[in-house]
Amino acid sequence: MSQSVEYNWKANDEKYVWHSMKPYNPEATFIVEQAEGAWVTDIDGNKYLDAMAGLWCTNIGYGRKEMAEVAYEQMIKNSYTPLSYGHTPSILLSQKISELLGDEYVVFYSNSGSEANEVAFKIARQYYQQKGETNRYKIISRYRAYHGNTMGSLAATGQAQRKYKYEPLAPGFLHVAPPDQYRNPEEMQNNDPTTLPSVNTIDQTITWEMSETVAAVIMEPIITGGGVIVPNEAYLKGVKEVCEKHGTLLIVDEVICGFGRTGKAFGFQNYGIKPDIVTMAKGLTSAYMPLSATAVRREIYEQFTSNGDYEFLRHVNTFGGSPVACSVALKNIEIMERENLFEQSVKLGTELMQYLQNNLNDHPYVGDIRGKGLLLGIELVEDKATKKPLDIHKVNAVIAYCKAKGLIIGKNGVTVANFNNVLTLSPPLSITFEEMNFIANTFIEAVNSIK
Ligand code: PMP
Repeated sequence: MSQSVEYNWKANDEKYVWHSMKPYNPEATFIVEQAEGAWVTDIDGNKYLDAMAGLWCTNIGYGRKEMAEVAYEQMIKNSYTPLSYGHTPSILLSQKISELLGDEYVVFYSNSGSEANEVAFKIARQYYQQKGETNRYKIISRYRAYHGNTMGSLAATGQAQRKYKYEPLAPGFLHVAPPDQYRNPEEMQNNDPTTLPSVNTIDQTITWEMSETVAAVIMEPIITGGGVIVPNEAYLKGVKEVCEKHGTLLIVDEVICGFGRTGKAFGFQNYGIKPDIVTMAKGLTSAYMPLSATAVRREIYEQFTSNGDYEFLRHVNTFGGSPVACSVALKNIEIMERENLFEQSVKLGTELMQYLQNNLNDHPYVGDIRGKGLLLGIELVEDKATKKPLDIHKVNAVIAYCKAKGLIIGKNGVTVANFNNVLTLSPPLSITFEEMNFIANTFIEAVNSIK
């Protein structure tokens, strides 16, 4: 189709494109034509600082020429080989991921975070079957968590509003309460992993379900989409101990928390644990190409290699781990390391959070400001004592104010009981100090404008 001056982008967008989540809305929808660094420009020439990094994913920012070059060169050298054979970029990337994870992991590739989690569930179930623990199939997750859009990863998701139209989903998934320190202050004051209520609930659930039936616990180090729920420092250690006690695998979903978002290569590294399985996507390529990975401890992998012809992982993914995507991921990680973006995430994230706290902690509608690295959540409430979520129209007004000033921010949580009241900031890790100030000052102005 030729692209004439008269081409009506907006009308044809409405006519042909099914956007995710929201119906087409001429007021809110904007069509991006160009993006560079932390900034996106729409077809009307409006420029916005993207303080959500797309969907928490463009960690190195937009429009890096060397990313395009590496994809171009790899396409010419070798555009595709399935991973039933092998190719050089996947070997280098897997070694790099292992190095970042800090131990020997073996990596399976897919294209999206949802698929990476599906692979983790299949591996966990098959692993126990092949170890002779054939009753272990249940997967425990948390309410409020998001783990993906496919029938298994959606079953693991703890957000009823995303699920109920599509049920029945994959069976065998159970949910427990999240470690919400803001709404459960007893979580905050306790630093003993053995007595944390949010850890005990996992321990008790596994016990009551019968340890012998539970294959895995899945969690993000920090619940992101469910409202940036930062756990007590002792939480993950406690969960890991519970998993070990019950002989259950711990799957850590690093789809958002990975690749510097919380200031470390992986979010779990803030909490001194070693997961059995780690899933990752988004920041792995900073969304320059679709790619995700499921990394498993070598001991788990070996359960799939030593028992004869019928006991390998029966899972194939045509596009997963393509040489082009792997080359792009390697370049992305090289850029992050060269520009110290993990350290930058801690430095700017800490400053941003302190600045927001100094300016907004006394605001009557600001219940809590929390986060780690460049992953921040600001929970808005009607009343600081009751913590009743702020009316959604007022929450939306903050977002609209920011947009009018050229700043894209996010809104997360769960719509059930109106808990969609957490505004989120997750900009590219490559933002400058000036850009950080723009985010902070615009955001403060927007909150102060709530009527
Ligand atoms: N896990 C988490 C924690 C996520 O935030 C997401 C996506 N937002 C997914 C899994 C699913 O990733 P994808 O959309 O790439 O399938």
